[in-house]
Amino acid sequence: MVARKVNLLGAAEYRDEGENMLRTAGDAVVIRRGALRSVLMSCPDGCGETLVVNLDPRAGKAWKLDMRAGKTTLYPSVWRDGGCGSHFIVWRDQIVWCDRFEEGNVEPSYDIAALQRRVLVALQKGELRSAEGIAAEIDEIPWEVARAGHALTRLGLAVSGSGKQRDWFALA
Ligand SMILES: [Zn+2]
Repeated sequence: MVARKVNLLGAAEYRDEGENMLRTAGDAVVIRRGALRSVLMSCPDGCGETLVVNLDPRAGKAWKLDMRAGKTTLYPSVWRDGGCGSHFIVWRDQIVWCDRFEEGNVEPSYDIAALQRRVLVALQKGELRSAEGIAAEIDEIPWEVARAGHALTRLGLAVSGSGKQRDWFALA
């Protein structure tokens, strides 16, 4: 059974304690010991594996956890290299699948018109800026800044990069 939502059950101090709390695909527990350490997640494709998403920059590549409005967002996407190969975005509790299971994806709702205006203010002519950098500056969610940037591009108000810079934007 493929999960479409993350079910954050709470926090634990240690991994085995957190792992014992997980029941079904999409269940998640934050490991916090002083600082945020990781998010444990029962793989949302239902394979039964536990995914460990590192949140601690001292322990290597770290994801950002956002809990605004009580909903879970992780940035960047979670991609399991080996095993089942699950690749998905966690965005305001919604699991948005990349490649596999894309059919049936539901994106969360937010005020994209207001966000487009704020992103427009942050853009400069000629200099591409990443959605991630803009999001940090205006305290918004990178997934939403990227959507707003592409919407501005479709309106002809912004230009976007390509390849690895596809979510980078500048004023048109
Ligand atoms: Zn899996």
